[in-house]
Amino acid sequence: MTSYNKKTVDDLSVAGKKVLVRCDFNVPLKNGVITDENRIVAALPTIKKLIGDGGRVILCSHLGKPKGEPKPELSLAPVAKRLSELLGKEVVFAADDCVTGENAKAAVAAMKDGDVVLLQNTRYRKEETKNGEEFSKELAALCDNGIFVNDAFGAAHRAHCSTVGVASYVKESAVGYLMGKELKYLGNAVENPVRPFVTILGGAKVADKLNVIENLLNKADTLIIGGGMAYTFLAAKGYATGKSLLDAEKIDYCKQMLEKAEQKGVKILLPVDCLVADSFPDPIDAPIAVENVDADKIPAGKMGLDIGEKSRTLFAEAVKSAKTVVWNGPMGVFENPALAEGTIAVAKALAETDAVTIIGGGDSAAAVNTLGFGDKMTHISTGGGASLEFLEGKELPGIACVDDK
Ligand code: ATP
Repeated sequence: MTSYNKKTVDDLSVAGKKVLVRCDFNVPLKNGVITDENRIVAALPTIKKLIGDGGRVILCSHLGKPKGEPKPELSLAPVAKRLSELLGKEVVFAADDCVTGENAKAAVAAMKDGDVVLLQNTRYRKEETKNGEEFSKELAALCDNGIFVNDAFGAAHRAHCSTVGVASYVKESAVGYLMGKELKYLGNAVENPVRPFVTILGGAKVADKLNVIENLLNKADTLIIGGGMAYTFLAAKGYATGKSLLDAEKIDYCKQMLEKAEQKGVKILLPVDCLVADSFPDPIDAPIAVENVDADKIPAGKMGLDIGEKSRTLFAEAVKSAKTVVWNGPMGVFENPALAEGTIAVAKALAETDAVTIIGGGDSAAAVNTLGFGDKMTHISTGGGASLEFLEGKELPGIACVDDK
């Protein structure tokens, strides 16, 4: 299991030294405009600390999937501009298509203490996602093979040059504040939760979250299952599920999980009723006629698309007595207003409890923020895929490669 005893930026002495920092600046862009700057804002504490300590801060990140070649629409130029505004100081953008080229070298050579340089999108280079040696060495050379800080939690589940490879060619490495925060909340919740520990899983398919279910069954007191994945569990209980989403191959797995939960004394809560419709809404937010039916009475021609009213109350009640709650995945097709009530009810229940509440990134994070409950949660993870792998109990390579304290 992961050790959280990692060196942090507080353990470094950076005055006058070059520091390479891997951030997660993978922000959504529309026509060159950043539509959600959360990830840039989340990177500020580490950058400010290093500037304040007189470090020469060289930032790098990927953006989207340019697949190993320069794509002007995936340039980090807009991030450099916004970051400059947020920091209130110039961020020199080194626009090399090869990331570590002449512009980068010149910009770094000209740095004074407290200066900031941002490199071009690391995924402009083919070697990046293959964790190639040469590009890792080039990145390390930019900071004189000295100090590497990984603050990109959202990319920590990937072993790439800029997240993992580079760490082998520097003298010292540490995690940034954002990474530290993710480790503190997700790590503590899963490894050392204040009980009762309630986890809520949703989303489309059981198959996507097999390992999460299994790992959480060993940790949680109550496991709530909603969303599309609930129907395979309902089928495992012998209920007819109509046209609802079903992973037929995983029915046996769900049966085993229900048995395992019983043996372990872990409570699994499934929907007791659901909202059904004739078919999946198309487009996804199209007006749709829904009906609330009991979970064991789903009509043959109908599809379950959200948890029902009784389930909303049941799930909210279960959250009330919790001391730690981790939530990943929506309860229904929340993109449609007629099918969003289940997800809203869970978000509200989390907003109202005094428990430590942790949102595991992705759709649930977006839902909580859109509904305006963002500031009521203890922690909203910035990494969807990374937080899921964390909940699976996997060691994340971008954390494992960092020096221990
Ligand atoms: P998160 O991003 O929070 O980790 P997720 O993205 O992993 O969650 P997915 O497995 O991608 O979750 O599933 C999210 C999708 O599942 C949503 O687009 C939602 O519309 C869909 N969904 C939820 N409930 C149902 C359902 N009953 N039937 C079909 N699709 C559903």
